[in-house]
Amino acid sequence: MQVGSMQVGAMKVGIVGLGLIGGSLAIDLRPLGHTILGVSRNPKTCQAAIDRGIVDDASSDLKLMSAADVVFLCVPLSAIAATTEQLIPHLLPTTVLTDVGSVKTTVVETIAPLWPNFIGGHPMAGTADSGLDAAFSGLFTDKAYVLTPIETTPPIALETVTSLVRSLQCRVYQCHPAEHDRAVAWISHLPVMVSASLIAACLTETDPTVLDLAQKFASSGFRDTSRVGGGNPELGLMMATYNREALLRSLQAYQQQLGQVIQQIEQKDWATLESELTQTQQIRPQFL
Ligand code: NAP
Repeated sequence: MQVGSMQVGAMKVGIVGLGLIGGSLAIDLRPLGHTILGVSRNPKTCQAAIDRGIVDDASSDLKLMSAADVVFLCVPLSAIAATTEQLIPHLLPTTVLTDVGSVKTTVVETIAPLWPNFIGGHPMAGTADSGLDAAFSGLFTDKAYVLTPIETTPPIALETVTSLVRSLQCRVYQCHPAEHDRAVAWISHLPVMVSASLIAACLTETDPTVLDLAQKFASSGFRDTSRVGGGNPELGLMMATYNREALLRSLQAYQQQLGQVIQQIEQKDWATLESELTQTQQIRPQFL
């Protein structure tokens, strides 16, 4: 469900993790009149964020978050649970907490019982780079930003984060954490595994001359289909670890689909194959 527009007053916005996502949020929220308070474990990153005018204040001490109206947790998925536990003693009871993690069920199940004034979030925007130097203005413009309220999410948490991310010109969507995870399994996590498997399958070629020729012949088609499988291994591992169930479900459907294609080709069932390829050609624009 896409969410309508709302106005937002100036707030004290805390950002824990001044990397690509946290830094980019700070860069675009500060010019809208919000006071930005940043936390990085590295004092040099804190100083760089202040010097570059990305934040109003920064510290390696989570105490800085005691002044925040809303806090965006922008640390890696593996660090969210521990960081939340360290953060909570510093928050005002009214502080709205949100995160930007790419998987939602485990994050929401971890944080919501600890801090009820929490709403999970996931900006569908990013690059292959990381750290504050990778952050830039406009990363979120025209991108989907998914919020995942559950039955216990206070309306104020939903409204506050919706209005903030909406002001970044995002398309804001709401769904259940499990629906989010199943959807991103199809369009983000499955493609990484398929693309990685494509590269690995090519390497099973036993004739070195053929393999060498394939590597020399590879052009735009291979560049497109291998791009996400040739990226940072940590990201793929993160997807498999934190979205295991939904990813397995998508992979099994893909395996079945591949089995059907093999059968059609073995049986020279060109009519069915053509009909399948016509259908995929027609449907692709619905995803992009
Ligand atoms: P990033 O550029 O590496 O930034 C992560 C930040 O977290 C860094 O500032 C790092 O800062 C801090 N950090 C790293 N390890 C930590 C730890 N163990 N404990 C506490 N803080 C730690 O990564 P990112 O791409 O912004 O990703 C941040 C979050 O955004 C992740 O949850 C990811 O799932 C989500 N996300 C990423 C993308 C994408 O395409 N990159 C897209 C959407 C959502 P210091 O070392 O300075 O403390």
